[in-house]
Amino acid sequence: MTRSFDKSKAIYEEAVNLMPGGVNSPVRAFKAVNQAPIVMDHGKGAIITDVDGNDYIDYVLSWGPLILGHAEPNVIKAIQDVALQGTSFGASTAVENELAKKVIKRVPSVEMVRMVNSGTEATLSAIRLARGFTGRDKILKFEGSYHGHSDSLLIKAGSGVATLGLPDSPGVPMGIAQNTLTVPYNDLESVKLVFEHYGEDIAAIIVEPVAGNMGCVPPLPGFLEGLRDITTKAGTLLIFDEVMTGFRVGFNSAQGYYGVTPDLTCLGKVIGGGLPVGAFGGRRDIMEQIAPAGPVYQAGTLSGNPLAMTAGLETINHLTPESYAYFEKLGDRLEQGFREAAETYNIPHTVNRAGSMIGYFLTNEQVINFDTAKTADLDLFAEYYGLMAQEGVFLPPSQFEGVFMSTAHTEAHIDQTVAAFQKVFKQLRR
Ligand code: PLP
Repeated sequence: MTRSFDKSKAIYEEAVNLMPGGVNSPVRAFKAVNQAPIVMDHGKGAIITDVDGNDYIDYVLSWGPLILGHAEPNVIKAIQDVALQGTSFGASTAVENELAKKVIKRVPSVEMVRMVNSGTEATLSAIRLARGFTGRDKILKFEGSYHGHSDSLLIKAGSGVATLGLPDSPGVPMGIAQNTLTVPYNDLESVKLVFEHYGEDIAAIIVEPVAGNMGCVPPLPGFLEGLRDITTKAGTLLIFDEVMTGFRVGFNSAQGYYGVTPDLTCLGKVIGGGLPVGAFGGRRDIMEQIAPAGPVYQAGTLSGNPLAMTAGLETINHLTPESYAYFEKLGDRLEQGFREAAETYNIPHTVNRAGSMIGYFLTNEQVINFDTAKTADLDLFAEYYGLMAQEGVFLPPSQFEGVFMSTAHTEAHIDQTVAAFQKVFKQLRR
């Protein structure tokens, strides 16, 4: 039976007159898949339910934070208990220490941490800190990497090796964009070339240790190590943006998984357990430059609020090494199932995976950077997307986003998803 989305449509039509594009974050408008947005009502475990009553196996998980699944009873109980005591005090609370200790223990590079309210705040603050610490203005980022929407980081790459930044959005001043250099992901030679020219002016390289905003693109062997070498030699800071990968790719985050230690790390998503949070941390001598210990200013009315701290702490407390072994098992099953279905029906495909982050690309090219990611067939993806939703599988509405799993996902959910791949690919057969 074909699913109805009547209530979703009605709510969206009303929203369009209330909020720009009808949404509070652009990707929720489903533009890339040519369909009206699905409006959600509630979630439980691996299942999310829309306002029309349609259930889906959820591979979006609020874009990563819900690593234990929706409405995990321990997390909800902890939030309820702490809310009864008050929601925010604008003064320190003991639970901030508990989450800070947990982050410091689990993330190898982090000796001190500052809590903020989003990943965007974490990365923009880390960049300011790197500039303040080094006394340099330029930064280097990679094409197709998203680090939130602050001016310095909202720069996409042009062509060529070391493209001087062009703003990706009206409103980003040219003067700011000029200080952001971009090169292709996984391309150490380009990084070296940029450093030959600008090395002494570059405050930081910011990199997603597994790129998650062009689909899932893991680092090639030697890439992260090479960045570590180059930055150390140039007196440049290495910042890992682990907003997506932190506590997701491994028990000790991506830096533990790949064995490369940055100077600073940005976190978000999982460490808020589904409430608004971000954090940045790293070497003590660098972090002590942050106000009020040092001169680099950063602040926040709701930073470290007890609800988010508690939800994050409770979430991390339930993530054990076994959780990550479980993700490997599920991820492998999903990856194999996707490949087999795509091969059976001759659908162009490439699969990249790092733990429970998976990128399916509808292309036969190996995907190692944004240019190769862009070889995917986006029309085919839009068609695939709509059919998967009809089969009860909720995927990110963009080819350039990875899928996530939670501890609430079971082998039965994976097998149901694989059956959906088979059915959908049969219809899409080329
Ligand atoms: N950095 C990375 C790697 C992200 O994936 C995101 C968001 O998806 C951000 C930063 C920005 O985080 P937020 O949306 O919480 O501002």
